[in-house]
Amino acid sequence: MTSEMIVNITKSFPGRLTINASFRMTVELPTVLILFGPSGSGKTTILRCLAGLEWPEQGTVRFRDDTWVETQSGIRLPPQRRRIGFMSQDYALFPTHSVEGNIEYGLSDLGISERRRRVAEVMALLQLQGTERLKPNQLSGGQQQRVALARAVARRPQLLLLDEPLSALDAPTRSKLCGELRSLLKQLAIPSVVVTHDWAEALALGDQMAVINEGRVLQVGAPQEVFSRPLNAEVACIVGVETVVQGRVVESFGGLVTVDVAGIKVTALGAEETGPDVFVCIRAEDVVLETLGVGATSARNHLAGTVCEVHPTGALVCVEIDCGFPLSATVTRSAVEDLHLSPGASVVAAIKAGAVHLIPRRDGTGPVAP
Ligand code: ADP
Ligand code: MG
Repeated sequence: MTSEMIVNITKSFPGRLTINASFRMTVELPTVLILFGPSGSGKTTILRCLAGLEWPEQGTVRFRDDTWVETQSGIRLPPQRRRIGFMSQDYALFPTHSVEGNIEYGLSDLGISERRRRVAEVMALLQLQGTERLKPNQLSGGQQQRVALARAVARRPQLLLLDEPLSALDAPTRSKLCGELRSLLKQLAIPSVVVTHDWAEALALGDQMAVINEGRVLQVGAPQEVFSRPLNAEVACIVGVETVVQGRVVESFGGLVTVDVAGIKVTALGAEETGPDVFVCIRAEDVVLETLGVGATSARNHLAGTVCEVHPTGALVCVEIDCGFPLSATVTRSAVEDLHLSPGASVVAAIKAGAVHLIPRRDGTGPVAP
C-alpha cells in the first residue's frame, strides 16, 4: 500500500485564476500539511478539490491506493466516498441545531447507539461536555471552532481538511488555540491539510508546508526549512521571514524572554506564555550590522558572527551570517562597502528584542525533536 497523497490538478475560473497545483504528502504518519499563500492564491480551491466539492478540469488526486480523481478515465469520487473531514473557514454550523445536533449531522447512516457513542467521544476529546444542548450563538468563538472540528472528526475520517481554522477567532484566542490545535491534530492521528495565510500558524502547526502563489505550488518542505531557505525570490517575498531557528526558553523576566539557540542567548519580548520549545523568527530587514567594537545601539541583542555569503537582491544585499546559528540580514549596498562585508569578515548583528518573534511549538506527545 502506498502511504502518500498525490495531487496534480488544473482548475480554472475563466477571466480569473488558473490553478495548476501539484504536490504530494506522506499520510502514513499523522502529518500536518500547510497550504500557505496570500489571499486569492487558490488555497481554498485546492482544498475543495481534495474534498470533492470542486472538480478540477484535468488531473489526478490519489490517496493511498485509492484514486479520487482521474479526469482522463472519468473517475470522480463524490465527497461522501472519500472519508474526509472538512471544516470550512466560517465553520458552517447550523444555527438552529444544538451542539449535539451539529455533531450528529453526517452520522445518520449509523445506528442510534453508535451515533450517541461517537458524539460523546468527540465531545470529550474536544472538551465540549456541558454544551450539548446549546446553540452555536450561545458559544464562544473558540467553542464554535471546536464544535466544527468535532463534527469534522466524528466520522473518523482518513483525512482532515481545515480551511483557515483559526481565522474567525480574535487574536489572543487564536494564538492560544493554535498550540492546542497542533496537539489535537497529533492526538487524533489523522493526516491533515490546513490552509493558512499566517506564517506564525504555519510554523506552529505544520510538519510540511506548500507555498502557493497564483495557483501554483512554489515550494514544499518543512516549514522551518521553507522559511529559512526559500527556493527563490518569489517564495522569499511570500514567506517574508528569513531566519527561523529552534530554541529553548531559559528565562522569562520583566517582559523579556531569554532563549537559548545553539548555545547563543537571544532576547525577545515575551508578551505571552510560550512553553519551553519555540521557533525563533527574525526578519532579515530587522537585523542591523555593525563592525566589531561599535555596539552603540539600544538593541538588546548583539551577536558576534562571521559573514558566510553576500548576495545582492535588487537595491538591497542579503548577507548570510554565522553567529552560532545561521542568521540573514538585508542591508543597503553602501553598508556592504562601508562595513567591508565579504565572506569571512567579522560583524556584529544587532537585533531589538521586539524584532525577535517566538512561535511556541507543542506536540501532543511532548516537546518536538530538533
Ligand atoms: P484563497 O483561498 O487562497 O484565498 P481561493 O481558492 O478562494 O483563494 O480563490 C482563488 C481565486 O479563484 C480567486 O481569485 C477567486 O476569484 C477565484 N475563485 C474561487 N472560487 C471561485 C468561483 N466559485 N467562481 C469564480 N472564481 C472563483
Ligand atoms: Mg481561502
